[in-house]
Amino acid sequence: MSEAFHRLDLARAVSDVRRFNYICKIVQILVEEKIQNLSATARKALLTILNAIVLRSAVEDVHVTTARELVQQFSEALEGHVCGSPSIISAHKIAAGNLLDMVSDRQPRTEADAEENCVTFLDLPREILSMILRKISDHRSLLEVAAAHDTLQAIVDRENSLWQSLCQFHFQPYQIEQKKTPEKTWRQTFFDLKRHFGIREVYADLIHICCHCKCLFWKQLGHPCVREETAPSVRVTPRQFVDMLIYL
Ligand SMILES: [Zn+2]
Repeated sequence: MSEAFHRLDLARAVSDVRRFNYICKIVQILVEEKIQNLSATARKALLTILNAIVLRSAVEDVHVTTARELVQQFSEALEGHVCGSPSIISAHKIAAGNLLDMVSDRQPRTEADAEENCVTFLDLPREILSMILRKISDHRSLLEVAAAHDTLQAIVDRENSLWQSLCQFHFQPYQIEQKKTPEKTWRQTFFDLKRHFGIREVYADLIHICCHCKCLFWKQLGHPCVREETAPSVRVTPRQFVDMLIYL
């Protein structure tokens, strides 16, 4: 697993906005379900990625909640039965504790921190704010944005069309027809649809596997295949990737 992480350069890829969500999903599956299956070396490789996620969240002031949750879950999982000598486990607990301190002390910058005369995001016209919120592709981010400020909360609560766009992005028209009734708001419909069908996993870049040489590679980077003409490849979801790592 450490070798796969190293070759795919996952720790450095964290700083690439197109790969961040995919890597976080892999880390989430590992820390929630698989810590007991990992060797001490594999756990160390995972810590390196967590470190990169925390650093990015601290430096760029983004994804603070995600970073905190991942480190917290990693730290809690170490309390159970895990592989490795007591000294290694203790070193990993200390490393996780340090990361948690770093990410917990982090307070996101707010509107109050802005200089008096500068234009902030919230000075944009409400229509523009709605258009920007419409670009968010998952409900979790939308709810987190809403929690950031009353103005954004009001837009997310009142603009039914935001939730309609989200439904249309994640679900097929026949699925929407099954769940949407005139009494139900688009927000309620979204959560009904999500419960029933599950949402689409969308990633700007993701790992593919070459059908010819079985090489794993980032889709946008491609790979130098031993076959001369370009070989077909298939997408590997984060869960499939984790399953491959665990059974290697
Ligand atoms: Zn190939």
